[in-house]
Amino acid sequence: MSAPTDSAGTADRPDRADRPVTTTDAGIPAESDEHSLTAGPDGPILLQDHYLIQKMAHFNRERVPERVVHAKGGGAHGFFEVIGSDAAEWTKADFLQPGKRTPVFVRFSTVAGELGSADTVRDPRGFAIKFYTEQGNYDMVGNNTPVFFIRDPQKFSDFIHSQKRRADTHTRDNNMQWDFWTLSPESAHQVTWLMGDRGIPRTWRHMNGYSSHTYMWVNAGGERFFVKYHFKSDQGIETLADAEAKAMVADDGDHHLRDLNQAIARGDHPSWTLQMQVMAFEEAADYRFNPFDLTKVWPHEDYALHTVGRMVLDRNPDDYFAEVEQSSFEPSNLVPGIGPSPDKMLLGRLFSYPDAHRYRIGPNYLQLPINAPRSSVHSYNKDGAMAYRNPGDPVYAPNSYGGPGANPALADASWSVSGEIVRAAYTKRRDDDDFVQPRALYRNVMDDAAKERLVGTVAGHLENGVREPVLSRALDYWRQVDGDLGARVAKELAG
Ligand code: NDP
Repeated sequence: MSAPTDSAGTADRPDRADRPVTTTDAGIPAESDEHSLTAGPDGPILLQDHYLIQKMAHFNRERVPERVVHAKGGGAHGFFEVIGSDAAEWTKADFLQPGKRTPVFVRFSTVAGELGSADTVRDPRGFAIKFYTEQGNYDMVGNNTPVFFIRDPQKFSDFIHSQKRRADTHTRDNNMQWDFWTLSPESAHQVTWLMGDRGIPRTWRHMNGYSSHTYMWVNAGGERFFVKYHFKSDQGIETLADAEAKAMVADDGDHHLRDLNQAIARGDHPSWTLQMQVMAFEEAADYRFNPFDLTKVWPHEDYALHTVGRMVLDRNPDDYFAEVEQSSFEPSNLVPGIGPSPDKMLLGRLFSYPDAHRYRIGPNYLQLPINAPRSSVHSYNKDGAMAYRNPGDPVYAPNSYGGPGANPALADASWSVSGEIVRAAYTKRRDDDDFVQPRALYRNVMDDAAKERLVGTVAGHLENGVREPVLSRALDYWRQVDGDLGARVAKELAG
């Protein structure tokens, strides 16, 4: 149906009868969506056209700063339900007790690319979960890989700089990436993982999520355990071959975003089974390698997986900006029964995530509907930009006027520490070797065809701009992972 037009040829309120009148953001009805207010049809625009000015000014402010890492992503709503009663043996966390079901919001992302970048690149994927528990929000800021490139947050910004853009040309640079990796041998496990088949998931539905970090669980009896979370895809693992993924970058940069949205829209709700590795608190002190080192997994034969729950995504966001772009996850959101571990990377992230949100979307980001807990908030924090929920009086603690008071029984999960204040690596244990686990991944997990693809991917990456002395160091790095692997990469480069 063609829209009715007025004498000036406009199409304001095309089917006038049943459509609401456009308003300003203050709710004042507007006369035209097409014409600015002018002195005569051909005259200059008048400053009193507040409707136009508000529209232009608001448009200029549509973007909040994109995330420095994990900028491109998508998300969905769903729920987490407990399976069995095993988790209750290890934690008193309310949402992990038998029979509990908790709403969640999950965001998946790439790490290095910007907001508009393509989904099907070789990169780890973020796997962030917000559990809206009855005891406040519990956030898990995981990845689709069980390990990470570094183990000390001192190196994080340097690492990310090396993976992003050069200062001079503003382009990415493989030489810079390999320079950092080869000078940081603790990266070998994650780089082997990344260059392997799982480095490009087919969809977000077909990848696992791992806490990567070790956390502490405390049960109702006060016993402490160290734990790692594994969210195993019920859809199975599927990956994209290099050439296929590159073609999709050109064809559909939003492939993963679209796939998740369409799957949920057609009722094909993806799910993940949560399995836990659990280490008795006392075992951590003598384990053969540092169990808090984020560059290492706990081998399955040492710590078996225990199924404790299932997560299902069954509802798409209605508004990308409000629910995905403004969603903010922070590993510092830990509920009673769950605490941090002495993992240095985790301890660094406890600060950096909420700090990023305060900068990116403001100090009251936890009042936004997507981030607000569904349990009551009784905080004395008040005011600040965009505050619309304030505690009221009394505005301080302690007070004599019935304000909320903290509960000393809710002790933080803890461990004891001693020692001189130093800047040093973790104390070395007998199996603390950077190359043992990538070697196991290459030798024991990858079949011959996967090994062949790994050699091709590594060589292809090195051929693309990596120069001496970094190139020689890179070959040495792969020889240390496995002598045969190093030789094959060198041969491929020479050939
Ligand atoms: P296992 O043989 O028990 O486990 C190997 C695991 O490797 C599998 O369970 C699977 O993890 C994962 N895997 C399979 N194919 C690939 C691939 N192409 N790229 C990356 N991971 C893959 O041995 P271990 O527990 O002793 O671990 C051996 C190596 O396996 C580790 O050094 C690590 O690199 C890798 N790995 C280990 C994990 C762990 O938590 N122990 C988790 C993931 C990888 P999943 O079951 O999670 O899909």
